[in-house]
Amino acid sequence: MRKKFRIKRGDIVQVISGDDRGKRGKVLRVFPQEERAIVEGVNFVRRHTRPRRMGEAGGIIEKEAPIHISNLMLVCPKCNQPTRVGMMFLEDGTKVRYCKKCGEII
Ligand SMILES: [Zn+2]
Repeated sequence: MRKKFRIKRGDIVQVISGDDRGKRGKVLRVFPQEERAIVEGVNFVRRHTRPRRMGEAGGIIEKEAPIHISNLMLVCPKCNQPTRVGMMFLEDGTKVRYCKKCGEII
């Protein structure tokens, strides 16, 4: 079954499984094909770098890696809780997302 999950860049999400469970962050990038997203401050990976120029320090940089969206839940900006997202149509035909907890349009 395909998991129905709709997140967009700029959304605040909470991690619901893995090492970063409980962390919240802003979605920086979404990869719909892979069903992954990069979330600010979540799922850091370390990369070792070499100095590219004279005088430049090499070392370890930490960077966010994409995390599978099944590990994420959208945090509703209205009720501030991790929630499932529903879809509905407004009277004018616009498709909108709504919070299944408080019913507000997100
Ligand atoms: Zn809500």
